[in-house]
Amino acid sequence: MSGKEGTMTGTWLIRNATLPTGQRTDLLLRDGTIAQAGPELSAGGAQVLDADGLLALPGLVDLHTHLREPGREDAETIETGTRAAALGGFTAVHAMANTDPVADTAGVVEQVWRLGREAGYCDVQPVGAVTVKLGGTHLAELGAMADSVARVRVFSDDGKCVSDPLLMRRALEYVKAFGGVIAQHAEEPRLTQGAQLNEGEVSGRLGLAGWPAVAEEAIIARDCLLAAHVGSALHVCHVSTAGSVEILRWAKAKGWPVTAEVTPHHLLLTDDLAEGYDPVYKVNPPLRTAADVEGVRQGLADGTIDCVATDHAPHPVEAKEAEWAAAANGMTGLETALRVVHKAMVETGLLDWAGVADRMSTRPAAIGRLTGHGQPLAKGAPANVTLYDPAAATPVNPAAHASKSRNSPFAGMTLPGRVHATFLRGTATVLDGKVTR
Ligand SMILES: [Zn+2]
Repeated sequence: MSGKEGTMTGTWLIRNATLPTGQRTDLLLRDGTIAQAGPELSAGGAQVLDADGLLALPGLVDLHTHLREPGREDAETIETGTRAAALGGFTAVHAMANTDPVADTAGVVEQVWRLGREAGYCDVQPVGAVTVKLGGTHLAELGAMADSVARVRVFSDDGKCVSDPLLMRRALEYVKAFGGVIAQHAEEPRLTQGAQLNEGEVSGRLGLAGWPAVAEEAIIARDCLLAAHVGSALHVCHVSTAGSVEILRWAKAKGWPVTAEVTPHHLLLTDDLAEGYDPVYKVNPPLRTAADVEGVRQGLADGTIDCVATDHAPHPVEAKEAEWAAAANGMTGLETALRVVHKAMVETGLLDWAGVADRMSTRPAAIGRLTGHGQPLAKGAPANVTLYDPAAATPVNPAAHASKSRNSPFAGMTLPGRVHATFLRGTATVLDGKVTR
C-alpha cells in the first residue's frame, strides 16, 4: 500500500485483484462507487492497494447478527460488533430485535440504525420484532417500523418462535403490503422445553434433555404452508437439520415465497462436541449430527438454502463459563464466517467463489431488501468490497477478536484464509487485517 497515511477515504486503486469468476482486474473506487473496472487502470492520485493473490468479493451481508445494544453492552455494542463485522469482511449486518428494550417500536429501530451510522464500520439494518416485547401474543408496530428512517423490512422474534399460527398468518399478511419478510426462528416450544442439545445418541449418552429435529421441521412445514396461503415472504433462520432442507426443497419446487439461511457453525460442527460439556458448543438451534451437516451443506450448495447468516451471539464470560445447563446459548461468528465457509464449502468442492459471493452477499442483500449491497464488482456498483487472502491459514484466537465477547467455538482451530481489507462505499474500514481506526 502506498499513498497518504490516515486517509482511508478518498480514491483507491485496487491493483490486480481476482474476481469470484477467476478473472483478474483493477478496481478504481471513487466517490463511493466503482468508478472503473478493468486491467491496468491508471492510478492518477489514488492510493494503491496491491491485491495480487487476493480475491475481491462484493462486501458480505449478514442477515442475522446480535449486536446486543441497547441493553447488553457488557456482551457487545453496536460499535464493537460492527468492528468485528468489518474484520470479517461484512459491509452490512441485520441487527436482531431481542435487545433490551426490544426493537419493537420505531424509536428503538431508529436508535439502532443511528448508532450504526455513527460507528461507521458497516451498515446496520435493524430487524424489527414481530410481536410486542417478543411476547408472542400481540403484533408489534410493524408499519411504524417500516415507515421509520430505519425502513425496516425484515421482522423476527428470533430467540423465540412465533409459535401461534394465527399470529404468524397475521404477520405475513401485514408485511405483504410493503414487501417485507418474516424471519422465523423455527422451534415448536412445546417440543423443546428444557432442551439442552440435539435429541439423539449424544443427548442419550449424556443424559441431557434433547431438542428434536421435528421441533424445527414442524414449524418450517407449517410456515411454508402459511406463506403460500398468504402469498407473503417467509425467511427461515438458521436451518439446522437435513429434514428441514427436504421441506424447503419441496416448498421451493412449488414456487412458494420462501428463503432460508444456515450458520457457519451448523456447516462445520456436530453435536458430539458436547461430550466434553464445554458450553462454548451450546447454541440454539443446537449442533446436529454429521448427516445433518451434510444435508445443510448440500442444501446451501444447490440453493435450497439461500445464504449463510452468522447468528453472531456474543455473551460475557460468566454467561458461557457456567455448568452446561445454566450456560447461555450462542456463539460469536462475524470474524470467522467467511473462513468457515471456505473450509466447509470451498475446500470440499461444494461451492466455488462465485457461489460464496452469491450466498454471502448477493442473496442475503436481496432477502434483506438492501439495494446498496450485494452487487457484482463492476463499473457503477457501490464500492463495497472485501479483499480475501485464500492462501493464508491461522488458528482462531478469540482473545484477538474485536467482538467484546470470546465465545467462539472455533477457538484454536486452524481455519483457511484471512480478510485482508474491507471497503464500505469506498472507505477502507479494514486494511491489512486491522480496523483502520
Ligand atoms: Zn434464532
